[in-house]
Amino acid sequence: MGAYDYDLFVIGGGSGGVRAGRVAASLGKRVAVAEEHRFGGTCVIRGCVPKKLFVYASQFHEHFEDAAGYGWQVGTPTFDWKALIAAKDKEIARLEGLYRRGLDTNGAEIIDSRAELVDAHTVRLVASGKTVTAERIVIATGGAPNPHAALPGHELCISSNEAFDLPQLPRAILIAGGGYIAVEFANIFHGLGVQVTLIYRGQEILSRFDHDMRQGLHKAMVDKGIRILLTDVIENVAQVEGGGGLIATTKNGETIAVDTVMLALGRDPNTRGLGLEAAGVAMDERGAIIVDAYSRTNVPSIWALGDVTNRVQLTPVAIHEAMCFIDTEYRGKPTVPDHDLIATAVFSQPEIGTVGLSEEDAAQRYAEVEVYRAEFRPMKATLSGRAEKTIMKLVVDAASRKVLGAHILGHDAGEMVQLLGISLKAGVTKDDFDRTMAVHPTASEELVTMYQPSYRLRDGRRV
Ligand code: NDP
Repeated sequence: MGAYDYDLFVIGGGSGGVRAGRVAASLGKRVAVAEEHRFGGTCVIRGCVPKKLFVYASQFHEHFEDAAGYGWQVGTPTFDWKALIAAKDKEIARLEGLYRRGLDTNGAEIIDSRAELVDAHTVRLVASGKTVTAERIVIATGGAPNPHAALPGHELCISSNEAFDLPQLPRAILIAGGGYIAVEFANIFHGLGVQVTLIYRGQEILSRFDHDMRQGLHKAMVDKGIRILLTDVIENVAQVEGGGGLIATTKNGETIAVDTVMLALGRDPNTRGLGLEAAGVAMDERGAIIVDAYSRTNVPSIWALGDVTNRVQLTPVAIHEAMCFIDTEYRGKPTVPDHDLIATAVFSQPEIGTVGLSEEDAAQRYAEVEVYRAEFRPMKATLSGRAEKTIMKLVVDAASRKVLGAHILGHDAGEMVQLLGISLKAGVTKDDFDRTMAVHPTASEELVTMYQPSYRLRDGRRV
């Protein structure tokens, strides 16, 4: 297709865009990838990766306390926020370099500029004002935190973007939201010594998760000293007169004085000003690009991948969608992304690892459901004396014996659920779990030793 400057032009250098661009270039395609901020996107620069580093940082506090039970005397630990930020920045810069190098070594052109669509095959590079053409265009611009513009004082609040680079660690923080980001950051800041209040509009945090995970994590967080306000929302945020601090008032009449208010109220697709209207690309009412099963937009030369399509906002999903695009368009193997049975982890403390149906969802879809549930004190907590509980749960279709869902609250739940994800994807039954030998002594052995159902649900009711 010599008529175009490129075979493929990718807008957005995050997980999905870089993968599509790098692999297409490795197949000999003439590719350019444009990114307006930093290569690596949300996950690497201001999401999953720095978040996990912060989770590690915040856990030392409990490790130091637990050490005494095992005979260790640790002096008075001190924490240096600026040192953590500097170490994190160094690692993120290294990873960004790897992303750039991966594109470069495979022959993709790296364009450090915002790019906007002009028409179905033309892109304008904002930095230079130049326009270029491409046979195919992939939009992988991700999402951005919902700014909650209707909240008076929202401009005084931070989002997860700023949380990674605060000039100093707040003394007290109020976090709004009950999803992944809110609970992860509530635990991070608490572990770093910040006084944390979390405010959520619903009856229980993590609305789409199994109730045992939601209640178990809630209790663990409150036991640690995190304050959780339910069925309440912030109505106003104002600066304290004469300087330092913010005052948040809530619908239920609370007045909360903090240094920082963080909004974690979901993420919106990054489509504003992208030229989608000019190119004729259709969006939904939330501004997400509408795609078919193959990630094609309504414009035949334009595809969209990852968070900008608001299908499942997870890094591995964006990467998978990119690989399906490559298989379909460049390898002659039409492949539809598989969004079923996605295992996921919440890096709260304790962690949640989950795959498949919650008990509530299974009860609605299956006539009879068996629930196998274990709640126990993890072995490490015996000598440390820490009061904490691990919960493991399997949700099983009584008729077929198929395991419909697996849910874990506890240490390394994310690691465990990755492997459970393989089993569920392969259609594992409860009988397969029963004939699997336990690995002893581990926490995960509970998963293969829960022989009797804890209870059953028939037609949605517990019996
Ligand atoms: P989530 O969708 O997980 O949570 C958003 C929260 O904000 C929900 O509790 C929601 O309530 C609440 N909310 C939304 N709008 C309002 C409002 N107007 N007023 C009050 N509350 C509101 O989004 P996050 O921002 O936490 O994270 C964005 C996405 O990023 C996640 O969906 C996830 O896919 C991804 N992510 C994944 C991580 C991981 O894999 N570990 C970590 C971080 C993010 P309600 O539930 O009632 O709708």
